[in-house]
Amino acid sequence: MSAIQEKNQSVKGGEFIIKESNAENTFIPEEFSEEHLMIEQTANDFLKQEVHTVLDRIDAMEAGLMPSLLDKAGELGLLGVSVPEQYGGFGKDFITGTLLTETLGAGHSFSVAMAAHTGIGTLPIMYFGNTQQKEKYLPLLASGKWKASYCLTEPGSGSDALAAKTKAVLSADGKHYILNGQKMWITNAGFANVFVVFAQVDGDKFTGFIVEKTYPGLSLGEEEHKMGIKGSSTRQVFFSDCKVPVENVLGEIGKGHLIAFNILNIGRLKLCAAALGGAKHVSTHSVSYANTREQFKLPIAKFGAIRYKLAQQAIRIYACESALYRTAFMIDELEKHKLADGIEYSQALLQAAEEYAVECAILKVDGSEALDYVADEGVQIYGGYGYSADFPMDRAYRDSRINRIFEGTNEINRLLTVDMILKRAMKGKIDLMTPAMNIQKELMAIPDFSEPDMSLFAQEKKFVANYKKALLAVAGSAVQKLMMTLAKEQEILMNIADMAIAIYISESILLRTEKLVKLKGEENCSVQLDMMRVYVNDAADRIALAGKEAINSFAEGDEQRMLLMGLKRFTKVPAFNVKEARRRIAARLIEKNEYCF
Ligand SMILES: Cc1cc2nc3c(=O)[nH]c(=O)nc-3n(C[C@H](O)[C@H](O)[C@H](O)COP(=O)(O)OP(=O)(O)OC[C@H]3O[C@@H](n4cnc5c(N)ncnc54)[C@H](O)[C@@H]3O)c2cc1C
Repeated sequence: MSAIQEKNQSVKGGEFIIKESNAENTFIPEEFSEEHLMIEQTANDFLKQEVHTVLDRIDAMEAGLMPSLLDKAGELGLLGVSVPEQYGGFGKDFITGTLLTETLGAGHSFSVAMAAHTGIGTLPIMYFGNTQQKEKYLPLLASGKWKASYCLTEPGSGSDALAAKTKAVLSADGKHYILNGQKMWITNAGFANVFVVFAQVDGDKFTGFIVEKTYPGLSLGEEEHKMGIKGSSTRQVFFSDCKVPVENVLGEIGKGHLIAFNILNIGRLKLCAAALGGAKHVSTHSVSYANTREQFKLPIAKFGAIRYKLAQQAIRIYACESALYRTAFMIDELEKHKLADGIEYSQALLQAAEEYAVECAILKVDGSEALDYVADEGVQIYGGYGYSADFPMDRAYRDSRINRIFEGTNEINRLLTVDMILKRAMKGKIDLMTPAMNIQKELMAIPDFSEPDMSLFAQEKKFVANYKKALLAVAGSAVQKLMMTLAKEQEILMNIADMAIAIYISESILLRTEKLVKLKGEENCSVQLDMMRVYVNDAADRIALAGKEAINSFAEGDEQRMLLMGLKRFTKVPAFNVKEARRRIAARLIEKNEYCF
């Protein structure tokens, strides 16, 4: 193992809440290789030439258009980037796949079709299929000759996916499973050739199946009428005595949950990537519109209220991007390490993504909410034209909203974030007890009044370290006080999740900016420093509010007073002129006339 790998492996999944990370060992988008940039360029050209020119036709669901775009993407090799070479793909690493998803994320409904095909459609076969299944299906999927979809949700089971009712029973001759049931909201259903379907064998063994469109007994509902991503095919899929050959069981009988949940970890990170691509596109539109639209004889970009919005859009994007590639790199490194240890490729990435499942859930929430924020402000910057279907913000706003719902709703992902951290602590994977007890002692002691270290990044590192203390103090006390009933106090869990999210993103933007300064010099990173400072500064207030709400929900008397006092101490940041910082950020965007970080 290289020194870098060793250091990175020392920060395990969820451990960011108690451990500091080292900027040297993080990966930042400014380090993309020539190959990364080439793939990004190919994807960008494809979007501009093939997708952005036909967005209205896609949204009108012109017959055959979406599959033909996927065919073209397949011809360019964009569908097989993560598929191993032996199955007709390019076997590129996780960062490459993430960058591709990000770039194509600006493709509205096309991005959704593409992500469903290459992600939840293809990955279950790639990671859980046996050799024959992989040999049969992967080359077809990597080239785009066949399209894939994923059938988990049912009318009565969404978040509670394992409560699915679709049933599978072995036929009398033992050659087929007979599927009966109904799936709901299935992306790509209208043109998919292959469906990864989850059903209960004998009514109680949750199992994955590979179902081809031509199997007797499979039929489709009408296209759903949706708020956004109107060009993405979404239908119900019905199984009526549908005959699926026994060799098409995916993975083991009764182990379907392993497929469904493991694929979701990767899916959540990829959703963040796609959302980020969409957000950059909206930011660019917002900046160039603000530069050209004049009111009161001035471009609206001259107004402070608009500059605030442009800057804030960029800060959310830059922060989320920092966390995305930090996590993708950690997963990538751990995967390589596992491969070097002789673990099979099909297991290596899954295990690596599972290790960082907490971070993937955080990214899903932050990416989808950043995009919503950026799109909402995009509409506002466009004013009345933002509300017009003839201008780009209307589509961006409507298409953005789904991201908070699929791949696990944001409520479920917030709950999971806390649940997974606590479970890891209970299993002894991360030691929360020692730092939590140290904080209790620190709260009783006299505060440290020594002169602060004013060197570059020292202050912000101290803030982030303090935010972690705030989280540990609140979460530690909540666990102690509420014990087993904490799981029922979802409002408190949401508060704790919000604190964890703000901490992970704050630390990520800090690590990125620190590394960037080392690479390019402080004088060339002044705007990135501004973005980092505004984000870390704002996080203090958000963490303080979430912490206060939580404390006031479970603590009383002396304990409440002590915790509130501690929270105040740990979220205290010196005065910082965010207005001037945002003006500098906006000025850079306005000068470049696009999202430029
Ligand atoms: C356009 C679109 C495309 C989709 N594509 C696919 C696809 O390709 N394949 C597929 O299998 N599925 C797909 N889905 C389904 C999607 O994953 C589900 O809609 C999602 O998981 C939520 O399930 P639900 O709609 O049943 O909502 P519910 O689970 O009923 O949730 C309703 C509300 O209750 C909240 N809630 C639920 N349980 C809890 C809880 N325990 N604690 C707190 N709050 C809770 C949720 O957060 C949400 O706010 C798609 C959905 C849409 C709309």
